[in-house]
Amino acid sequence: MLTIALSKGRILDDTLPLLAAAGIEPTENPDKSRKLIIPTTQDDVRLLIVRATDVPTYVEHGAADVGVAGKDVLMEYGGQGIYEPLDLQIAKCKLMTAGKVGAPEPKGRLRVATKFVNVAKRYYAEQGRQVDIIKLYGSMELAPLVGLADKIIDVVDTGNTLRANGLEPQELIATISSRLIVNKASMKMQHARIQFLIDTLRGAIEARHQG
Ligand code: AMP
Repeated sequence: MLTIALSKGRILDDTLPLLAAAGIEPTENPDKSRKLIIPTTQDDVRLLIVRATDVPTYVEHGAADVGVAGKDVLMEYGGQGIYEPLDLQIAKCKLMTAGKVGAPEPKGRLRVATKFVNVAKRYYAEQGRQVDIIKLYGSMELAPLVGLADKIIDVVDTGNTLRANGLEPQELIATISSRLIVNKASMKMQHARIQFLIDTLRGAIEARHQG
C-alpha cells in the first residue's frame, strides 16, 4: 500500500490533477466526503486527509509514505527526517512580514505575532534583532490593529487581506510553493514505485508549464 497525506483546500485542489496524470484518482470526492481515508482507482494507493500542519508529522513517522505540504509548513516543522524531492509549483505565495501602513519602526523590542514561531525566531536571530514572538493560530492581521503586536509574519498571495486591514507587506522571508515529501524508510522500501510517482509528477508539472 502507498499512502499519500494531503490537506483539504488549495493543496488538494491543485494536487488532484497532478495525481490524475499519474493514474491516481480518488474514488470519492475528498472535499465532500467525511472519510479521512479515501481509496483511489489504484487498489494499492490511498489518500489520508489531514491538517496541513500535520502532513510532515504523518510522513516523518511513516503513517504516510508521501505527502504534499507547503514550504511554509515545512520551514516551520523543521526536522531532518523527510525527503523533499519535488517542487510541485502549486499553491504559490510568499512568507512575509507585514505591519500597519506608515507605522514607524518601534524603538525597543519588536513584538511579532505569527503562527510561524520557529520561522520567526530564526529570521530575527539571523538579523541579530531582539524580538518577542506572540503565537497565534489565525487572524494574524488583527494583532497590529489592536496593539497586540508591531508586526505579523504570514503567507501573502494577492495582499488583499493585508490591505483590507490597513496593513502592508514589508520584508520577504521566503517564496512558497507546495512540495512532495517522502518518508525516508519508504523511499528505500518502495523505491521503484515512489521514484515512478516522482518522475510522473515531474513530467505533469513540466507539461503544464510548457502548455
Ligand atoms: P491574500 O490573497 O494575500 O489576501 O491571501 C489571503 C489569505 O489566504 C492569506 O492571509 C493566507 O492566510 C492565505 N493564503 C494565500 N495563499 C496561500 C497559500 N499558498 N497557502 C496557504 N495559505 C495561503
